[in-house]
Amino acid sequence: MLVTAIKKASVYDNVTRQFNKAADLMSLDPNIRKILAQTTNEIVVNFPVKMDDGPIKMFIGYRVQHNNVLGPFKGGLRFHPQVDLDEVRALATWMTWKSAIVNIPFGGAKGGIQIDPSKYSLSELERITRRFTYALGHNIGPEYDIPAPDVNTNPQIMAWILDTYLSMVPPKERQGCVHVVTGKPIESGGSLGRDKATGQGVVFCIEEWAKVNYFDLNGATYIVQGFGNVGSWVARLIKAHGSKLIAAEDITGGIYNPKGIDPSELIQFVKQNGGVANYPGSEGIDHKTFMKTEADIFIPAALENQITEETAPMLNVTVVAEGANGPTDTFGDEILQRREIQVIPDILCNAGGVIVSYFEWLQNKRSEAWELEEVDNKLHKKITNAYKRVKETAEDFNTDWRTAAYIVALSRLEIVYKERGIFP
Ligand code: GLU
Repeated sequence: MLVTAIKKASVYDNVTRQFNKAADLMSLDPNIRKILAQTTNEIVVNFPVKMDDGPIKMFIGYRVQHNNVLGPFKGGLRFHPQVDLDEVRALATWMTWKSAIVNIPFGGAKGGIQIDPSKYSLSELERITRRFTYALGHNIGPEYDIPAPDVNTNPQIMAWILDTYLSMVPPKERQGCVHVVTGKPIESGGSLGRDKATGQGVVFCIEEWAKVNYFDLNGATYIVQGFGNVGSWVARLIKAHGSKLIAAEDITGGIYNPKGIDPSELIQFVKQNGGVANYPGSEGIDHKTFMKTEADIFIPAALENQITEETAPMLNVTVVAEGANGPTDTFGDEILQRREIQVIPDILCNAGGVIVSYFEWLQNKRSEAWELEEVDNKLHKKITNAYKRVKETAEDFNTDWRTAAYIVALSRLEIVYKERGIFP
């Protein structure tokens, strides 16, 4: 029997095309190009976990470390059925660029487990997390590779990772290891403002965009794809500007209300019902209708490859603020450019998470606890500086913002490689 497999588009191929475009345009040193075109380490672990009803189940987990020339490997862990080596490679590489763009001393990594966490009990999830951490062993570490939350992971999962890691180091060293993971609960060494940080960074970028374009956010309409940590925080925070959420979608479906959807009420509804579908007072819409919704701002805050050759022609918005990693592929990008839809690219727009992870890491190392205001001010400064640098670079090179963001990152990495040289 002939089985035709439906192959999902490679996310890493997308990164490679983005990288090549920027490297060509800036004439990146060919030797440094060879180094950055590849990941440094790729760790794949298969590990057994006992299920609540007795039997053992095998799981597959990944950690890909792309580059650490600017500092320790850094990046989240994702629990999702779609997680595979190709995806984690791409996500790890984006982390290198992200840290470089916002000028924090981290490299790039990413990891995850190929699993649908909604299918497991809390105690199973705890055992899966702990066993995965144990399997990674000293491939992570507070000065070497520092995980954080990503899709379907949260502060509780970070606390389990911390606890498991600490049990793997000698007692005398434990106190100095709390920064092995960021995005922890506040009581376990987390930072104020980390939970909302990615969403807050997206909103700071939108504010900057509005300022430069003389665009009034008061009364502006927006649509959100994905209503997890990033999407829901953006909606909550942008409300202060008087912007109106008119459509949202997630895995459960899409909703539309041209009069506006209250973000806080939607958050409550999602908590109780597991998704946005059937939100009272809204009209249920399908994916295509959602993508075609006329609005000022689109915030994709879910997964990769959402704005493609097929869907980019449908968009009816002025600007796309990428809360997710990799929501637009290079074919979608070309169409958005042709249609003059502006894009605040992921590696700039969603960098708020890793910026505040850096602040958490610093606070842990110094045994400090900063006020929320201090965290927010520092985040604002970092992300708006990066925004300006990307804007100037786009003008200097007369190119799109994603390519400009790559050029900012690649230039920093190129300088460091040139200064340090290659061993031996
Ligand atoms: N997972 C987030 C991201 O994709 C945060 C990473 C981190 O804080 O290390 O940027």
